[in-house]
Amino acid sequence: MREGIVFNIEELTVHDGDGVRVTVFMKGCPMRCSWCHNPEGLKAQPELLYKRARCVGCGECQKKCDHEDCKPFGRCLHVCPYDCLTVAGERYTSERLASKLNKYKRIFDACGGGVTFSGGEPLMQWEFIAEVIDRLDGINIAIETSGYAPMHIFKSAVDKLDHIYMDIKLFDAEAHKRHTGCDNAMIKENFLYLRLSGKPFTIRTPLISGITDTEENLSAIKEFIGDAHWEKLPENKLAGAKYDMLI
Ligand code: SF4
Ligand code: SF4
Repeated sequence: MREGIVFNIEELTVHDGDGVRVTVFMKGCPMRCSWCHNPEGLKAQPELLYKRARCVGCGECQKKCDHEDCKPFGRCLHVCPYDCLTVAGERYTSERLASKLNKYKRIFDACGGGVTFSGGEPLMQWEFIAEVIDRLDGINIAIETSGYAPMHIFKSAVDKLDHIYMDIKLFDAEAHKRHTGCDNAMIKENFLYLRLSGKPFTIRTPLISGITDTEENLSAIKEFIGDAHWEKLPENKLAGAKYDMLI
């Protein structure tokens, strides 16, 4: 059975797809967007978060302990009196995650909705997600993806999912590389597959001041995607405090 790493599960949200959703944030992303508001989702492995402003420097967390879960981090996670230390990233087997999600089935059936996989970049752990989906009791599944994934992974996901939310952030290849660290050729190819797939999908562009919200960029995206359903998302400025927590 496969294991995946999840850094957050938001229960009963209403903004990540149709109806009432449970959103599962998968750890790891190959991109490094300069505006990313989920920095704790970027590294593939679990990592320590440290609330620097609360720390009084007592040194208790640096004393030796025997807890298995503390070993990878070289600090005790259980003694801080000010709750300064937490870990972003929890390992789930596909069975444990599916069992947790299946508990919402009655709510989804009553109100509409389902599960949304987000990240990070959820397609980095696609084989795990596919195994989770196979264990779900007929729940509607959406994904929020950057579209930056090899074509065979992207195709497999499109074929299995009910709705795909895919970003097209910057059309110009050089600007895309400069602001996200990655080339966008694969994203454009994946969009062409998605458009012909017959699956419901939504293209999203985060509006980042002076980067993605320029007339030139938005016109180029519009020309590329044609009449596809397109959402332009306002900038999220809440990431700064989270970057400070990464060690
Ligand atoms: S135990 Fe908490 S307050 Fe003390 S040094 Fe460690 S993080 Fe800081
Ligand atoms: S694709 Fe999303 S999660 Fe990845 S770096 Fe960009 S904004 Fe962050």
